[in-house]
Amino acid sequence: MSRVVWIDGAVVPAAEAKVSVLDRGFLYGDSVYEVVRAIDGKPFHLGPHLDRLERSATAIGLVLPPRAAIEAAIAETVSVAAEPDAYVRVVVTRGAGQIGLRPSLAGAPTLVILVQPSQPPPPELYRDGVAVVVVQLSRAGVDPRVKSGNYLPSVLGAAEAERRGAYECLFTDGVGRLTEGGSSNLFLVKGGMVSTPPEHAGLLPGITRAAVLRLCSAAGIPVEERPLWPIDARSADEAFLTSSIRGVLPIVRVDDSVLGNGRPGSVTTKIMSRYEEEMRSHA
Ligand code: PMP
Repeated sequence: MSRVVWIDGAVVPAAEAKVSVLDRGFLYGDSVYEVVRAIDGKPFHLGPHLDRLERSATAIGLVLPPRAAIEAAIAETVSVAAEPDAYVRVVVTRGAGQIGLRPSLAGAPTLVILVQPSQPPPPELYRDGVAVVVVQLSRAGVDPRVKSGNYLPSVLGAAEAERRGAYECLFTDGVGRLTEGGSSNLFLVKGGMVSTPPEHAGLLPGITRAAVLRLCSAAGIPVEERPLWPIDARSADEAFLTSSIRGVLPIVRVDDSVLGNGRPGSVTTKIMSRYEEEMRSHA
């Protein structure tokens, strides 16, 4: 397995890549990042991912290296890794400096690109679907639209999901409405209508979520953004998760409720295959 890292202007094996213990990404999660999938050396939806990285950085007042420099570093790392299906993690921290919370203490930002083989879920999870559990956790605190390195709620949600025998957790907001998965966006299907919580519900506007909204419209599949509650998820006909690495992954159980006949539904399957087509054919 080749896992390589771009750091300080060079691509090195991941085990040799080092970041200072004074780096604010390490100390405070004071960073922004993106995860992009690259098929045959071509990063999928790279433009929207870099746009979101810029929005995240602007929101926390972090000045990114120039976009062209980030693009060149990604291209170089992906080419050295030479993986047919690669996971590309782009991390920019506010850099190292004297210990202290004030961002003015930071030196220059640290850019790290990590590329390894992409490890999407095994085929049987796409075939059979996964279980999810609703948790009393959220990414509130910092604007959830910001993809920062601060992922403790998702880490705790993943631990709870594992404990409860589920694949992923579903976050809820202060009044109990569903927002998103711990590292994914959520879609439900009821009576042929596809629904997902709106961006202002407090979630990461996923790049895959946007692609699915677009492809539903293009395919004439009715779709809406509206507030969703755990009861909506438990009583849905079908449901699925989206993320850049997983694409579209069917959900067949929410807490103790089995959805439909317990198999991935027909609307989900159609969206999965349309998304897969789009990904495989991207130039
Ligand atoms: N929400 C959260 C909290 C995430 O970490 C992710 C994964 N980046 C997503 C949603 C899905 O976003 P995307 O489709 O851009 O990968």
